[in-house]
Amino acid sequence: MEIESLSSEQRQAWRDRVLPPVQTVSEGVWAIPVPIPNNPLVYTYCYAIAEDSGVALIDPGWDGKEQLEALTAGLSQAGFALKDITGIAVSHYHRDHIGLVPALFQRNPDMWLALQSNDIATLDTFRKQEKGAVTGATGEKTIAEIYGVPAQRRDELAHLDARKRADHFTVPHWPHEFVVLSDNDVLPIRGRKVESLWTPGHTYGHSAFLDAEAGVFFSGDHVLPTITPNIGLDAPSITHSLADYLGSLERMSKLDEDVTVAPAHGFRFRGLQVRAEQIAGHHDERLAEIRARWAEVDDHSVYAIAQGLHWSRGFEGLQNFNLFAALAETAAHMYYLGLPVGEPAIA
Ligand SMILES: [Zn+2]
Repeated sequence: MEIESLSSEQRQAWRDRVLPPVQTVSEGVWAIPVPIPNNPLVYTYCYAIAEDSGVALIDPGWDGKEQLEALTAGLSQAGFALKDITGIAVSHYHRDHIGLVPALFQRNPDMWLALQSNDIATLDTFRKQEKGAVTGATGEKTIAEIYGVPAQRRDELAHLDARKRADHFTVPHWPHEFVVLSDNDVLPIRGRKVESLWTPGHTYGHSAFLDAEAGVFFSGDHVLPTITPNIGLDAPSITHSLADYLGSLERMSKLDEDVTVAPAHGFRFRGLQVRAEQIAGHHDERLAEIRARWAEVDDHSVYAIAQGLHWSRGFEGLQNFNLFAALAETAAHMYYLGLPVGEPAIA
C-alpha cells in the first residue's frame, strides 16, 4: 500500500527541492511554503486558516527577511495582510516552525500564541541554561563522553551545542503569554473548530491539529510523507521519546482514513494509516539492527552501536550536528530496548 499524493505540484516541488506554489488545501485553508535557508527540507508549510474576521496560522516557519516576505506574499494571495493575523498555533518549538513568531508579534501584539505545555517548559529550560552548558549532560560527563565518542571526534560535539541551539533552538523572548495546550484543546479560531492533538515523540510537546469538519489533519513533523522525524533530540525526554512517538503514531492511526494529511514538510496526502505503518516499520527495522549489532560487538557505547547501523550517507558521512542527531536517535532506540546507554566503551 502506498500513500496518495493530493497535490502533484507539491509533490514535484518536494522532489525537485524547490518552493511549491501557494495552494488551497480546503475551503478557507491555504498552504504557504516558507523557505528554510541552507537546509535539505527547503521549506516549511505555514497553514493559513480563514476565520470570521482575519486569519490564524499554524507554524509560520523560519525567521528572516526572505521568510517574512514569502509569508506576506502567500497571505496576500489568500486575500490577507499581516495585520489580519489573529493568532498562531505552533506544532513544536523548532526554529523552522516557530522562528517567525516574534517578527509577527511585533506587528500585531494582540494575537494569541498556542504551544503545548511540554514545549513551553523546554523553551523555559533553554532560557535558564547557562550559555555553553551541554544539553542532556548528567553530572560531570559531556554527551560525547556518555555516548563513547572517540577523543578525536569530541570537538565536533563540543562546539555543537552552541551551534545546535543557534540553528535549531533559538529562543527569542516572547512578548506575550502562551495559550497553553495540553491535548484535545480547541484553538481560539472564531467560526471554526480546530483541535490540538498532543503527539509527543519528535519533541515532547509536539502537537498536531485536526479540523474534523474540513477533514484536514495538520500533522506538523509527526507524520511526514517521505521522511521520518528525528527522535531523541529532546534531551530530557530521550529515555521515553521512541515509546512516546510510536504511541502517538498509533493514536493518530485511529483518525478517519480519508483525512487529508497536511504536513509541515513534503506534500499533502491521503493514507495516514499506511504512512504510520511504514514509519513504525522503519523503527522496527532499526530496533532489530541495534539488537544484532549489540550481540555482535563488545563495545556497547552508543557510538560503537551507531557505527554499525545503516545510514543513508554512511556513518563516516555524518558530521557535527548530523553525527549528534544520529547518536541521539541511536540512544533513543537503545533506551526503548532497555539497553544501557552510557556504559564505558571497552575499546
Ligand atoms: Zn520541521
